[in-house]
Amino acid sequence: MAQAGNSELVDSFEQFFRNYYDNEIKQLAQQYPNEQRSLHVDWQDLYRYDPNLADDFLAQPEQLQRYAEEALRLYDLPIDVSLGQAHVRVRNLPETESPEIRDIRARDMNSLVQARGIVRKATDVRPKIEEAAFECQLCGTLTRVPQSSGDFQEPHECQGCERQGPFRVNFDQSEFVDSQKLRIQESPEGLRGGETPQSLDVHVEDDITGEVTPGDHVSATGVLRLEQQGDGQDKSPVFDFYMEGMSVDIDEEQFEDMDITDEDKAEIVRLSSSEDIYEQMVGSIAPSIYGYEQEKLAMILQLFSGVTKQLPDGSRIRGDLHMLLIGDPGTGKSQMLGYIQNIAPRSVYTSGKGSSSAGLTAAAVRDDFGDGQQWTLEAGALVLADQGIAAVDELDKMRCVTGDTVVQTCDGNRQIREIVREAGVNGSIEDLQNGRTIRDVDLTVRTMTDSGAIAERPVTAVHEYEAPPELIEVVTEDGNRLRSTPDHPFFVYENDEIAERSAETLKVGDRTLAPCDRPAVATDGGVVTAEQSTDPSLRDIEPKEIVEIQRIDSKGWNYVYDLTVEGTHNFIANGMVVHNSEDRSAMHEALEQQKISVSKAGINATLKSRCSLLGAANPKYGRFDQYEPIGEQIDLEPALISRFDLIFTVTDQPDEEKDKNLAEHILTTNYAGELTTQREEMTSLDVSEGEIEEMTEQVDPVIDAELLRKYIAYAKQNCHPRMTEEARETIRDFYVDLRAKGTDEDAPVPVTARKLEALVRLSEASARVRLSDTVEQRDAERVVEIVRSCLQDIGVDPETGEFDADIVEAGTSKSQRDRIKNIKGLISDIEEEYDEGAPVDIVLERADEIGMDESKAEHEIDKLKQKGEVYEPSTDTLRTT
Ligand code: ADP
Ligand code: MG
Repeated sequence: MAQAGNSELVDSFEQFFRNYYDNEIKQLAQQYPNEQRSLHVDWQDLYRYDPNLADDFLAQPEQLQRYAEEALRLYDLPIDVSLGQAHVRVRNLPETESPEIRDIRARDMNSLVQARGIVRKATDVRPKIEEAAFECQLCGTLTRVPQSSGDFQEPHECQGCERQGPFRVNFDQSEFVDSQKLRIQESPEGLRGGETPQSLDVHVEDDITGEVTPGDHVSATGVLRLEQQGDGQDKSPVFDFYMEGMSVDIDEEQFEDMDITDEDKAEIVRLSSSEDIYEQMVGSIAPSIYGYEQEKLAMILQLFSGVTKQLPDGSRIRGDLHMLLIGDPGTGKSQMLGYIQNIAPRSVYTSGKGSSSAGLTAAAVRDDFGDGQQWTLEAGALVLADQGIAAVDELDKMRCVTGDTVVQTCDGNRQIREIVREAGVNGSIEDLQNGRTIRDVDLTVRTMTDSGAIAERPVTAVHEYEAPPELIEVVTEDGNRLRSTPDHPFFVYENDEIAERSAETLKVGDRTLAPCDRPAVATDGGVVTAEQSTDPSLRDIEPKEIVEIQRIDSKGWNYVYDLTVEGTHNFIANGMVVHNSEDRSAMHEALEQQKISVSKAGINATLKSRCSLLGAANPKYGRFDQYEPIGEQIDLEPALISRFDLIFTVTDQPDEEKDKNLAEHILTTNYAGELTTQREEMTSLDVSEGEIEEMTEQVDPVIDAELLRKYIAYAKQNCHPRMTEEARETIRDFYVDLRAKGTDEDAPVPVTARKLEALVRLSEASARVRLSDTVEQRDAERVVEIVRSCLQDIGVDPETGEFDADIVEAGTSKSQRDRIKNIKGLISDIEEEYDEGAPVDIVLERADEIGMDESKAEHEIDKLKQKGEVYEPSTDTLRTT
């Protein structure tokens, strides 16, 4: 390029346009400027025309774009149009010429690159002033000042009278351009084994604004620029990259980053016809976890998923399967969820503890991602996992604090209990099994943003739940005290990073976050204050040491409380930054409709969430209670629970045979790991290669994870099975048979039609595993067995042994409702016979007479007491309220 003069370059582009883009330019001329303002040039075309010119475009995009646009202006057009402001936008760079987002380095500055990823955040589109016309209030002269990026520039003096204003910006005479800021995050399928995705901000202008939505997979081509970190006095020597976007194109392809070779295909087809393909698949999921064959098979079916059906009337039925694992702690649930990332073509893993500010669905927030005033739309986990699987661990986390917690609102300090009580007066109330949620709350609180600044945000919902039996009290060095549920996550500052840890895992000496309300004073006690800190994430907050942690009985605290602050999911209370949960009500909509609508403050968007959810949760009181129907022990709202196609429950009960095998399995896994480590770290080893091979083989996945990912992607793309008559019959019979058990006048309804759709989806997935285009009877039988065993676990009334859909979908079984009525009725009957109240032993005796055993009756009495429907006026006597 050094030799070529400017005009030669312009000529060269003109020739290129004539050879390659004549039609496009003529079309542009016709549509210009209202419908079209850019000529989109494929870089590969330019390369074909002149490789040197194309390479120069990568190295010096700004100049070359100017020459190209000059050539466009000079282009001979049949009609009389000037393409004066038309852009030339280059796209489609070869992958070899572009770094991954994580590999962008200083050497890439000012060059043209292409970044692929998923749009994580997008601001709304706003006009940006490019050239401001200042009108002098004294003489009326206009002084024009071009506005480059950065601060708004005012003129030094009037160009007419040379006085220093005052000026007024004349909008009609100024030039504005639409502008938008996007954040693009590395695509989940490009990441291996749970790497944290990195992101790049892209600034776009004019005709390419407003074209993409959070959740879209895109290729963004543009020039890498630098932006200094920090602001005002606190400028840092470290810079951030951002991209000045030249073009942003949506990638339609489902799994763009997977390259499935012909050999892969042959191998996949060969595997698909093996007799034992299902066993092989099961053996390829989390091999270090022993057992769970059925859960693993269900996970396989979920990965393959059913077929999304477009109905003739325009509606659609989802093909994605949602599945929930509920179980005692330490039973391997988290391990299994985490493994999904190795084999799912596209997956997003989050833990309920995780701090993605958009949470699970989406958030529209005023964010410092824009200019602080602009609204930003941010995609949450279910959107980022579009066309893939979202693994959400600890779905049920309760993040609550006691009622006396003092929240900093924008109108002063208020107790959270009072906030919730007042919200209940005008807000819309949703009653939950264990409490209530109130929406349409009129309240703004102080909160910590992603960048560690304190901001004010509206509260979108407040919550009140029954308190769990135990709470945790945390005291910080400055004497502030907070009582929370044990799983409530605290922010902790460790290794210069903000992490989250549940209250029950905190230790004395950990440092939690607090707002610095006073001007930060530098101390030499090792405590970083905001002012000293070079960490931009600590702008208005500082770490505070925890000096005391105590488990306390929740007696005296009937309820615990929580606020939902959209976008940040925390609020400031008791001198700390307090985490909170998100409102899950948006979630079941997202799971069923597979889209999330956001309409708020000028943002009207529909985000796609066509994904499967694999959730894990612990039982409400830590462990399962064999006397309670399982539905009552899950801390999720029934509307959400009913969206799951399969719910597995895992109890951890001693079983000699199983324990022996489990121990053997874990020991083998560890031994194989030890051998592998020794082979790598030690020069001589007294174990033969053969033995090492043999040991590792036992814990290796049967099908290699990389191949399995390709297998699943291939099946989802190429295989769309439909039911055979035999398969339909098997499912119909199973369903009708189950329903028939509910025809007795007094019997609970066993299963609902939702289950029927689940059965269809599952059997389609089963056919896909074989790459079959038809769902056979054996597919239907396979899934009937899975569904039957799930229902056995969860849908069975523990008293009658019958299936009962109410247990899952309404949260209480029929017999349980009867029983509660019974025992309360019993107590009030007996009460009438005894002046001092109903003696407990008589109640138990009568309960026994009507066929309720003693422990169950005691349990029910406890519950009535908890609910305040029965009280104990003196020891061992009861009264109803
Ligand atoms: P959960 O999420 O259910 O509380 P985790 O997945 O954290 O449990 O498991 C706790 C530990 O116990 C892990 O190290 C896991 O490997 C081990 N573990 C639990 N169940 C099994 C099992 N069935 N096979 C092998 N390891 C297991
Ligand atoms: Mg876990």
